[in-house]
Amino acid sequence: MSDFPPPPNIQGNYTGSCVACMKGTNTGLVLVGDAAFVSAGLIALGIPQHQVQFVLAAATGHPDGELSAGEMPAVVRACASCARRAKMEVGLWPTVPVYVPPKPRS
Ligand SMILES: [Zn+2]
Repeated sequence: MSDFPPPPNIQGNYTGSCVACMKGTNTGLVLVGDAAFVSAGLIALGIPQHQVQFVLAAATGHPDGELSAGEMPAVVRACASCARRAKMEVGLWPTVPVYVPPKPRS
């Protein structure tokens, strides 16, 4: 396959496929945070750095690549093996775990 990975679909979720390895999966997770947090999570899952901005834009509903400065939910399908590599867990779609950055306590 010379065209790997394929561009995300209009929902940015490669419907039915792991966002990192493109294998079909029925599991996923949600990253909720600012662009830096969500990007780090996507990179940890195995998405190449140069692809992250596109996945991020699509997964958060900003296909133009325009990202809000605040928190955003990025819902992605991810298979168990990619999540395990990222030290994250997945849930059976659509009951998926939500990851948020640790909040400093004052
Ligand atoms: Zn995967």
